[in-house]
Amino acid sequence: MNKYVQNIEISGIRKFFNKVIEVPEAISLTLGQPDFPMPIKIKEAMINAINMDKTTYTPNAGIYELRKEICHYLSSMEIDYNPEEVCITAGGSEALYSTLTALINQGDNLLIPSPGYPAYKSIGALLGAEIKEYPLNSDFTFNVDSIKDLIHTEKNNYLVLSFPSNPTGGIITKEQLEELHKVILQNNIMVITDEIYAALCYEKYHSIAAFKDIKEKVVYVSGFSKMFSMTGLRIGYVCASKNLLDEIMKVHQYNVSCANSVAQYGALEGLRTSMQEVLHMKEEFMKRRDYTYERLKGIGFNCNLPQGAFYIFPSIEKFNTNSEKFCESLLYQGKVACVPGSAFGKYGEGFIRISYSYSFGELEEALNRIETWVNMV
Ligand code: PMP
Repeated sequence: MNKYVQNIEISGIRKFFNKVIEVPEAISLTLGQPDFPMPIKIKEAMINAINMDKTTYTPNAGIYELRKEICHYLSSMEIDYNPEEVCITAGGSEALYSTLTALINQGDNLLIPSPGYPAYKSIGALLGAEIKEYPLNSDFTFNVDSIKDLIHTEKNNYLVLSFPSNPTGGIITKEQLEELHKVILQNNIMVITDEIYAALCYEKYHSIAAFKDIKEKVVYVSGFSKMFSMTGLRIGYVCASKNLLDEIMKVHQYNVSCANSVAQYGALEGLRTSMQEVLHMKEEFMKRRDYTYERLKGIGFNCNLPQGAFYIFPSIEKFNTNSEKFCESLLYQGKVACVPGSAFGKYGEGFIRISYSYSFGELEEALNRIETWVNMV
């Protein structure tokens, strides 16, 4: 067995799911996917693609029209790439995996957000990176000082950014990006920015990839799982300057050859015709966010108002227990499933993740149950 594989564990989220299955009457607020159907035009485009036999391999980097359309979409956020700098991947997951594999050597310094999406740590560990978790501000925005001390002057440094964030809903502000920009210019540091929730940002959206003078030091990862509510169709993408992308493409090629052809045609149609639906979904999520936030505050939880994605990350500090025990009791006694904050890294302890990508009816019932249970314990 490969020692790095042996040393990583299955995700804490998955582990908790296995317990959730034991309590079938529980309401689950654990899933990281929208409950909206995929836009109809995307469905039709995929059916069409099948009927037209577009079921063969595509170029390794993906169909040209989709890469071009992605560039057009990104340019609306002041992010400039050309189609030769885009590779379509099997979800954001493969984009992250292929990117980190192409970049990182054993012993390299990998800075990851904590709390943060668990894949960064596990992929880094598989590659033998030296992993440093950096904390966020108390409102879950980015804190440039928290990474300064973690940068190694003699090593290659890789910084993962992940905003809007899973699990906190936090974002990075324009001022914070400007400070970070200076640090990137002055140090041997490469940024991998995971912006898969960019389309679900409730504030004005800013990206590190918009700074032109550090283009060689930034890899942009995103995808359509959340934006078009198509998590099962596995379409993501990675953008980077050509010399970097060529290396990432080697890993991608030997990994998956190309992303699913039919789903690529679906994503293409989505970018062309379904942005209104994305906007509608975002507006709905904002309403659910406000409702969930107000209810949690009313129950007595200390929490931040999320600025993006569809997660809220309340503190459980005053309950004097750890997040795993808290979630277990809430599951078995209160019949509501949430994810322990510890699944998202060492600075996730003391919190729980609640996904509000559920209907109002489900949210209301789950929050009623949480309220009853909290008043009991
Ligand atoms: N990045 C983040 C922050 C995520 O939350 C997820 C999915 N939960 C991914 C990447 C991967 O998404 P996918 O592979 O479905 O595109």
